[in-house]
Amino acid sequence: MSQGSAIDVPLCDLNGQYKRIEAEVLEALSRVLSSGQSILGPEVATFEKEIAERLEARYAVGCGSGSDAISLALHALEIGAGDEVIIPTFTFFATAGCVVRTGATPVFVDIDPNTYNMDPAEIESKITSRTRAIMPVHLYGQSADMEPIQMLADKYGLEIIEDAAQAYGAEYHGRKIGTLGALGCFSFYPSKNLGTYGDAGLVTTDSEKLYARLKTLRVHGMEPKYYHHFVGWNARMDALHAAILRVKLKYIDGWTSQRQAAAKNYTAILEEKGLHRWLQRPTQVPGLKHVYNQYVIRVSPMMRDGLADHLKKNKVSCEIYYPLCLHQQKCFENLGYKKGQFPISEEASRSVLALPMFPEITAEQQERVADSIQNYLTRQVRLAA
Ligand SMILES: *Cc1c(COP(=O)(O)O)cnc(C)c1O
Repeated sequence: MSQGSAIDVPLCDLNGQYKRIEAEVLEALSRVLSSGQSILGPEVATFEKEIAERLEARYAVGCGSGSDAISLALHALEIGAGDEVIIPTFTFFATAGCVVRTGATPVFVDIDPNTYNMDPAEIESKITSRTRAIMPVHLYGQSADMEPIQMLADKYGLEIIEDAAQAYGAEYHGRKIGTLGALGCFSFYPSKNLGTYGDAGLVTTDSEKLYARLKTLRVHGMEPKYYHHFVGWNARMDALHAAILRVKLKYIDGWTSQRQAAAKNYTAILEEKGLHRWLQRPTQVPGLKHVYNQYVIRVSPMMRDGLADHLKKNKVSCEIYYPLCLHQQKCFENLGYKKGQFPISEEASRSVLALPMFPEITAEQQERVADSIQNYLTRQVRLAA
């Protein structure tokens, strides 16, 4: 491989995608700016209707971020002080942070070593009289193992809130994620599969009662104007984001297919180069539609950080999602967890590495990623021999 002609491979190419839809986005923004209604209003209502249809949910409520979505969902179920919510320890911070923000206590469980999603077998022993909900996360774009989680929720009368922030469009045995529990929470943060240019989020539900509560909660618990039944939040969605997302909704299915094709290609090239002997590729569970927000490989913890440094030096971006489990975070020290308590999650945090993944990634770029991995790993293996 000639170093001189090396092309940069970004983790995610938001600018490239923007250039392709720029005219449509600007037109949509202009429409909203001239309408005089820049928060909620008809643009958000239309977006909610369009996205609910695509997600096969009865209702969708736009809000300020994915974190708002989780907070609103918990609050809609009246979960708060004294309650416990079971969540995986291997996820983005917001899953736990929002639980704490409502006054409830996150109760962590370990993950499945192949999918990195919550291990249903770990849940039952964590259920107490205070448990109100289970919040599975569909990490990296693949659904958690929902059927056993549903069975436990039914058995103990618990609610399910899905953290679907990374998984727009994913499916669990033909059912859209976001509709498998009482409430589904989505994020439109720029790097998510469906992302805006700023912060926005969404809650989905099939319950008319929860829908009504969510709509009120996002505007300070106000209904009608200036009459407050309970203390809500300012979790409103900007109309500008709804307009941008409505443009992106036209393309999202194609982009998802491109991600899936890129994932398939990575899996093939890594094998062609014999690299599958030294690294673990993502496990795609039969029957689940994985939307590849991330393509995450796993290498020995002895080599992971060295490999990440090597890739970055060669202008191949990569990222570690997530280098420290939630039960080990300083801010959760008071919860009393110990290092070693969730060995599978802790091992994952030492061995995972996300490779560049975006719909427009070219085969040439992927080849370069694989070449860089090969350069590093063959040198390491030779040194060890
Ligand atoms: C991004 C993300 C969130 C939070 O979404 P924001 O829009 O950034 O608030 C929550 N959970 C998971 C798993 C995420 O990846």
